[in-house]
Amino acid sequence: MLLEERTAFVTGGARGIGREIALCFAREGADVAVCDRDAAEIAAVGGEIEALGRRAVAVAADVTSAAEIGAAVNKIVDAFGRIDILVNNAGITRDAFLVRMSDADWDAVLAVNLKGAFITSRAVMKGMVKRRSGKIINIASIVGLWGNAGQANYAASKAGLVGLTKSIAKEMASRGITANAVAPGFIETRMTAALPEAVREKMRAAVPMGRFGAPGDVAKAALFLASGLSDYVTGQVIVVDGGMIM
Ligand code: NDP
Repeated sequence: MLLEERTAFVTGGARGIGREIALCFAREGADVAVCDRDAAEIAAVGGEIEALGRRAVAVAADVTSAAEIGAAVNKIVDAFGRIDILVNNAGITRDAFLVRMSDADWDAVLAVNLKGAFITSRAVMKGMVKRRSGKIINIASIVGLWGNAGQANYAASKAGLVGLTKSIAKEMASRGITANAVAPGFIETRMTAALPEAVREKMRAAVPMGRFGAPGDVAKAALFLASGLSDYVTGQVIVVDGGMIM
C-alpha cells in the first residue's frame, strides 16, 4: 500500500472525483477526512472510508468560508494528529458566454474553485510547515490550460489554480512540501452529466482514446502525487484526459 500511516483531507469529497480520491487513498492505507456542504452526503462517505478499515472524519464545511474550514481543520487535526496530504477538489461550474455572464456567476466560481483552494491550503499548510513535510494536490482542468467557450469563469479559476500550485511549490520546496495539480479532461460525474447529449458527443469525438474518463482515472494520478513515488516532483500539472490536449 502506498499511503500507510498517512492522513489526508479531500475537499468536495461527497461525490464524483473527490469521493473516488478519498476511497482510493483509504484503500491505500490512509486515514481520510472529507468535507462538503451537504452534511448527509459527506457522512455517508465517512462511513464508506470506515468500512475500508480506516479512520474517517466527515465534516460539513464550505471551502469559501475561512471560519468553517478553520474549524474543520482543527477537528481533523484533533482526530488524526496531523494532515499529510491535502486535495483541493471542491469545484463548481456556472457556464455562460462572457457577454451574458453575471457578476454572481463569475464570483461564485472564482470563490469556490480558486479562493477555496487558497483558504484551505493556508489553513492546512501551517502544520505542514512546522513538520517540514506535506503534499498539496489541486484538481485543476484542461480548460484552465486550453480555455473553453462558455466557461470563462471556470477556465480562469482553473488557470489561477495552476498559478497557485506553482507558487506554493516555489514557496514551500525548501520546507519539504510539494504542490502539484491534476488537470482532468472530460470525466463522468454529476458535473458533466448535466451537459446536453449533443455537447457530450462532440466532446467524446475530441478524445483520442474514444471514451470519457472515470473518477478513478483522476484518483490514480492523485495517488501518485500523494505518495512517496512523487517525492521529487513539484510544481507540475498532470493532464488526465485520454489524449485530448498534448
Ligand atoms: P461534482 O459536482 O460531482 O462534485 C463536486 C463536489 O464539490 C461536490 O461534492 C460538491 O458538493 C462539492 N462542493 C461544491 N462546492 C463546494 C463548496 N463551496 N465547499 C465544499 N464542497 C463543495 O464534480 P466533479 O467530481 O466532476 O468535480 C470535482 C473537481 O474536478 C472539481 O474541481 C472540478 O472542477 C474538477 N474537474 C472535473 C471534470 C469533469 O469532467 N467532471 C474535469 C476537470 C476538472 P455540494 O455541491 O453538495 O456541496
